[in-house]
Amino acid sequence: MWKSGNSAIKKKRGKYVKAIRKPFPFEVSRTEVNNDTTDVNIAQKPGSAVLSQAKDSFTTIQNGCSQDPRIQHDQQQHSETPDEQLDDLWGKKETEVVVAMLPSQIKGNTIIIWHSEPCSLRPHEWLNGEIIEALLHLSANKLQRKKRLYILNHYTAGLILAGDRKQLPRHCLPKVNFHKYKGIMSFVNVNRNHWKLLYINAVNQTVYLVDPALSNTEATDSNIAAKKFSEYLIMRRTCYGKSDWVDNKWKGGCLSHPTQKDGNSCGVIVTLMAMELMKAFPDIPCMKFRTSSVEMASERRRLALKILKESVFDISIHCGMCSMTKPPGTSPPVTHWIQCNGCGRWYHVQCLGMTSQELRNVRKRDWFCPLCQM
Ligand SMILES: [Zn+2]
Ligand SMILES: [Zn+2]
Repeated sequence: MWKSGNSAIKKKRGKYVKAIRKPFPFEVSRTEVNNDTTDVNIAQKPGSAVLSQAKDSFTTIQNGCSQDPRIQHDQQQHSETPDEQLDDLWGKKETEVVVAMLPSQIKGNTIIIWHSEPCSLRPHEWLNGEIIEALLHLSANKLQRKKRLYILNHYTAGLILAGDRKQLPRHCLPKVNFHKYKGIMSFVNVNRNHWKLLYINAVNQTVYLVDPALSNTEATDSNIAAKKFSEYLIMRRTCYGKSDWVDNKWKGGCLSHPTQKDGNSCGVIVTLMAMELMKAFPDIPCMKFRTSSVEMASERRRLALKILKESVFDISIHCGMCSMTKPPGTSPPVTHWIQCNGCGRWYHVQCLGMTSQELRNVRKRDWFCPLCQM
């Protein structure tokens, strides 16, 4: 079994989005500040015909001036160390605010990280699949293995190993040519509560299904995985005429690896194993990291900090809900932005689903975003 996204929120998770459009330059400035304005900032696309609606009461930001009203917020943000930022995020109730964006293996694309995802790295929590996948992409890019090691999404990996055969043709990656790669790194969910690493090494034509917990069935499980993967490749040839890797003689293999000592760190160990394998790729390393509760807590923090440090999300130009500089979908001709008094993040008013009455109300008081309302 593998974890399925069954809520509307989960549907958007783990999606790769196009590279961010260059933001329109509202970093310009405050053209008008009404006397009774609050600290709430509303920004609007320059040249908008509806500009006058905001002028009467909101702080309005428009292209073409020299003073940048974001300076204060930028300073506030930068004064926090990554450790403080992480403590702050981990200390809040989970939300769907965007907290990071990471480069994907898919050239020019970005992986969006919502607040609840790095929260799953908190001590004793079970890791979210999207965060493991993001960390794999990050490592593959860092190690410059992206051209040789394909990061397979965990839903497809789960389908290949244990899914409904009828669903599989929809996941056969017709645009991917495995001949360009020398291996696949992925992971699968077992019984909705356990992660296993799936490592496919095309150099030695071996499939490894690695259980972070102590297991005596790894050899059998890997052999079954090799068989399922061969069937998947044959299906790709049947459905799409893709013959890459189909003639390889795939076999199951076992790895020597550290084992899990608690009930919740399988995802951390899967991530660490994947990173070690990527570093040594295509060789098989001797994996020796420690898995005590102290080590796991420290690794969780290190991985979460890595996400924050490598993030290309800029709270001063990207919307905290959609991560874009323009509302997704068919946007209206005018884009209003609102800035949170708590964290300084900017949001498309449209993405917050704010009614015009609510919008009018925010001028009378400070406004706090979903992350800061908790
Ligand atoms: Zn937005
Ligand atoms: Zn906020």
